[in-house]
Amino acid sequence: MNDGDEAPASTGTDDVIAGIDIGGTTTNVLLCRSDLGVIDTVQIPTAAQRGGDVIVRDAVAALTRLAATHRVEPRAVGVGAAGVVDPRSGHVLVASRSFAGWSGYHVTGAITDALGVPAYLDNDVNAFLRGEVLAGAVAGEDYVLGVTLGTGVGGALWMDGALMTGAHGAAGEIGHLPGFGNCMCSCGERGHLETVASGWAIARRFTEISGRAATAKDAAAAAQDGDRGAAEILSDAGHALGHAAVLTAGLIDVTTVVIGGGVSDAWEFLEPAIGETLTAEPVVSGHPVKVVKAALGNLSVALGAAACATTSMR
Ligand SMILES: [Zn+2]
Repeated sequence: MNDGDEAPASTGTDDVIAGIDIGGTTTNVLLCRSDLGVIDTVQIPTAAQRGGDVIVRDAVAALTRLAATHRVEPRAVGVGAAGVVDPRSGHVLVASRSFAGWSGYHVTGAITDALGVPAYLDNDVNAFLRGEVLAGAVAGEDYVLGVTLGTGVGGALWMDGALMTGAHGAAGEIGHLPGFGNCMCSCGERGHLETVASGWAIARRFTEISGRAATAKDAAAAAQDGDRGAAEILSDAGHALGHAAVLTAGLIDVTTVVIGGGVSDAWEFLEPAIGETLTAEPVVSGHPVKVVKAALGNLSVALGAAACATTSMR
């Protein structure tokens, strides 16, 4: 982290790439080398309600300060953003409700105008998976489902050593797969994985049983304090994730599932349930699917976005 106390790393400026992760509440900015060795990072609040120009201006300012501290000039910038994005044109197509003035915004154009270097845009879940495959918990693996457990459940697929997009860019969107009960989903349909395994679902269920307004983090804290109801809610999420892993492995023969996002901090409650399901529902290939926790924490999206920039430049 950039605490300002360390002497700047010795630098050759040619090799430096920047990654920016624009989330609904925080933006992570990262500088790394083309081999994805992290130089430094900084986190700032996202002014999500103030429109694309302010969101990008804040991120560029943070990046410029970080680069000046290390006396480097990044030669490209990769951005991972929540929502539906068009990586080819660099526009946000559909933003979540936590953003204003973000749908339709030309992210890469604004960054290139500000910094004079090429910029690349990808969906944050794709960037998460790219980061974990290239430098994280599943480094070097070729067949991976990435799952992010945040407010919702995001998914992405890495197949044959590359991100798989599918016909409509929705490959791996496991959060809205049906077959997980009958509760109403955020998308208006019923029984999706997200109704059991997402932050909002865990929060809602724990609010119901505890009788107080609660978050998924509250549920995890209560489970840690021995609250059986909270532990059961997290265990249900784990069983559902295990089942989703088995379905994916059965269909497209992934070897591994990597799970990140804030809810994955409750891994000690998710993992046993995931394991139970993987044992109870063996995969047809005879090769058990591995399910692991993400290793890069809140840097995976920014690092994956930076990797996207290096890959795109080749
Ligand atoms: Zn849904």
